Amino acid sequence: MQYIGRTKGRLFECWEFLLDCLFPKHCFVCQKEGEYVCSACFDKIELAQNKCYLCQTETEELGICPACQNESKIDSIIVATPYTGNIAGQMVESLKYNYVEDLAPILSRLIEKRIERDKLKTLVTNKLLIPIPLHKKRFLERGFNQSELLAEELGQRFHCQVENKLLKRIRYTAQQAKLTRTERLENIKEAFIAGSISQNLEEVILVDDVVTTGSTLSEAAKALKQVGIKKVIAVAVCHG
Ligand SMILES: [Zn+2]
Ligand SMILES: [Zn+2]
Repeated sequence: MQYIGRTKGRLFECWEFLLDCLFPKHCFVCQKEGEYVCSACFDKIELAQNKCYLCQTETEELGICPACQNESKIDSIIVATPYTGNIAGQMVESLKYNYVEDLAPILSRLIEKRIERDKLKTLVTNKLLIPIPLHKKRFLERGFNQSELLAEELGQRFHCQVENKLLKRIRYTAQQAKLTRTERLENIKEAFIAGSISQNLEEVILVDDVVTTGSTLSEAAKALKQVGIKKVIAVAVCHG
């Protein structure tokens, strides 16, 4: 088995090398050849300041004020960076719509940077990560779930297991990005369902790419709390 694994790895490396030769990667920002984001440009990405990312007010709590906490069922939100004013928003869009899967490691490194800055490592280490699921139909259209790619990367960094079967998206919804706030709330209502959990599972971390109104995270958290999970933390790359 090991031999097969190694052979596959070699072939994959050769393929990647060939692709790199044919289509060399360029830094999104400065166009320097080699990586999608060179280290100099990565270091310049501004990290998010703590506030309630749902109602944009100041709060002592982590990423969500008590009023929004109560309404949304999310206990804390950790976001790496603002969506506008830097290249992170553009990177998230490319990950989602241009299928640049190589961006997932860079984006998760950004989340890691925020976690390290605010000493939040114990909050996420060894926890269960749940990527916001796509509806089956959307998954087939896109070919991958960007939140799952992010969760897998974060899982490696923080020794977390990724659970992608517990939470299911049962409604095929219009894309949230194109809707107004009220439409988003209506669009995503009852979109998720959670399966039964083992008794000792009390806390999970939801992983998403962008937090805007929080309606998707909120509906997902609601479904998870309905089956008995007590604490839901959300982790995302950008806040809108
Ligand atoms: Zn650069
Ligand atoms: Zn709030």
